[in-house]
Amino acid sequence: MENPRTVFTQISEFLEYLGSDLADATAKFSKAELDDKPKFPFQCSRHYADLIKKAANPTALLRQILPTKEELKNIDGFVDDPVGDLPASKSDCVIQKYDGRALIVSTATCGVRCRFCFRRNYPFREIPNTAREVDNWLDTHTDVWEVILSGGDPLMLGPGKFRDLVEAIAKHPSVTTLRIHTRLPVVRPDLVMQHFELLHELPARFNCVLVSHVNHSDELDSESATVFAQLRFSGWTLLNQSVLLKGVNDSTDKLTTLCRKLFSQGVLPYYLHQLDHASGVAHFEVDDNTARSLIDEIRKQLPGYLVPKLVREIAGEKSKTPV
Ligand SMILES: *Cc1c(COP(=O)(O)O)cnc(C)c1O
Ligand code: SF4
Repeated sequence: MENPRTVFTQISEFLEYLGSDLADATAKFSKAELDDKPKFPFQCSRHYADLIKKAANPTALLRQILPTKEELKNIDGFVDDPVGDLPASKSDCVIQKYDGRALIVSTATCGVRCRFCFRRNYPFREIPNTAREVDNWLDTHTDVWEVILSGGDPLMLGPGKFRDLVEAIAKHPSVTTLRIHTRLPVVRPDLVMQHFELLHELPARFNCVLVSHVNHSDELDSESATVFAQLRFSGWTLLNQSVLLKGVNDSTDKLTTLCRKLFSQGVLPYYLHQLDHASGVAHFEVDDNTARSLIDEIRKQLPGYLVPKLVREIAGEKSKTPV
């Protein structure tokens, strides 16, 4: 067994690993009382813990990872399926909401558990053979030209299963674009690297787009830079989506720093999402007026190509909705 572990699932062990330097920063998070509440359990990778240790502003990262009592509050309008995933499910693992593109729930697992996750209450199903199911579905949906691998985090699949899934998609000439939505470049860069041979081959078959999920500049380090550089070298288009989160990135300064650092690693900001109203996340909410003025401010400070689109997902709509 590796020591120290690569993934923490006990808050007490995680805090011990962070050490006494961070005691002040972690003191405001309740620990033991949530340790044994199973609904959306704590999980943090060692890599992310190391980012917290190095962070200029550890609280912005801790807040994304450490459960608090606020999650247990019932707030009106915060529900289990905030973006209408279930009504848009086409099979056990295919969700289609928009024309021409379909999203695959590739796996239930992630590199960390983000407290604000919109799928924190999603009823992930055991799927015996995702590759076959996707293959069959694409047979009868030849209008779909872009397949988006999501989850969970698709790069959490073992290399064999990941290859099976991608090869099943590659059999369909109608699919010309493959997109991966992942947080692993900043939470488990080691696991991205284990797929590298395949990731390097894929641009010969598809237009390849990787949309990373990075919310704060302190999440980007030399390891994410290496992952992104290799993907770019292989021919991937690199975009990033962030969620606007109170106490994490809700300032002009934090957002401009994030956008510039993403670009320094070869990644363009794509979306800045208004929070999806999943139950347990209300304390991360930034109101629309504040969100709009933040975007107006960063537009004055950055070139247009580094300003993300401020959007929200509304269940039943045919695209993301500009805020
Ligand atoms: C967000 C989302 C997409 C991607 O939307 P884009 O605007 O193309 O990035 C596709 N399918 C589903 C189900 C989504 O939730
Ligand atoms: S990586 Fe994405 S899917 Fe996984 S917990 Fe975080 S926000 Fe949710």
